[in-house]
Amino acid sequence: MIDVFDIERFATHDGPGIRSVVFMKGCPLHCPWCSNPESQSLKPILMHDSRKCVQCRKCMSLCPANAITFDPHFSANQTKCNHCGICIDACMHDALHLAGRKMSNTEIIHEIEKDDDYYRESCGGITISGGEPFLQQKALLSLLKALKKKSYHTAVETTGFCDSTVFENALSLIDLLLFDLKTLNRSKYASIGADIDVILHNLQIALHHADTEVILRTPVIPGFNDDAESLLDILDFGNQIHVHTMHFLPYHIMGKGKYEQMGRSYAMPEQSIDSASLNQYIPKAEALGIHLIIGG
Ligand code: SF4
Ligand code: SF4
Repeated sequence: MIDVFDIERFATHDGPGIRSVVFMKGCPLHCPWCSNPESQSLKPILMHDSRKCVQCRKCMSLCPANAITFDPHFSANQTKCNHCGICIDACMHDALHLAGRKMSNTEIIHEIEKDDDYYRESCGGITISGGEPFLQQKALLSLLKALKKKSYHTAVETTGFCDSTVFENALSLIDLLLFDLKTLNRSKYASIGADIDVILHNLQIALHHADTEVILRTPVIPGFNDDAESLLDILDFGNQIHVHTMHFLPYHIMGKGKYEQMGRSYAMPEQSIDSASLNQYIPKAEALGIHLIIGG
């Protein structure tokens, strides 16, 4: 079984053609800008939409784990919550949902094969994202094998921070690797819980695997790597390792509402980076022979 928090249909930015994206739960990193904060924990997370809630407190009175309080506003203790779903069923206003559920390969394939015609006509396929998909390494390998049995084009989005042996074994099942390179700075990677040596080692493994295409992706984050020196260094690095395509993904605040739904504070600036401001890097990348796409 796989811990999944979403399956997005008709995605067009996570690999070629029209795709379904399977979002797996769990991540070893803790990036404060994460636009899917509900992915970080392997466990399901109770999400509460305050815009829909009428404060009737029915959820609180029915919760068998005493996980819900009003103080005076709704608050859920995610540690106490046993994910029984009683509060969700009880809420007449659809204000609650659990982010995360266990799915079998069969259930996932049943969902994604609804769009087989679209994948075929657009040369699309299936992308597995997260979280960090390699955190559930056995489940990931099993799903990739099941997808390949059905001849789907497979893409995996990864931080690269994972067990190198498992990573190498998975490559024969992956057509496209969307490999995150957030920075070349060791201490910045350490500040979000990752070891740059592991990431660069895995990147080298991927680049030596002839049958897997590698696209380097850099989320451009205010105060972390959005200065010209950092971004030019990353382009130079891409050139040194002979990567043909790179993506700069401008920071956006679309995930902010999820932090609120989880009862977490949002620690990042409240303004997205204007993607047009990154266009200046396209000719610099072209001069290095790199096809740079802003926004992926
Ligand atoms: S049951 Fe729903 S509407 Fe009522 S307090 Fe709970 S979340 Fe809000
Ligand atoms: S899912 Fe169950 S345990 Fe968790 S808050 Fe709702 S009623 Fe309580």
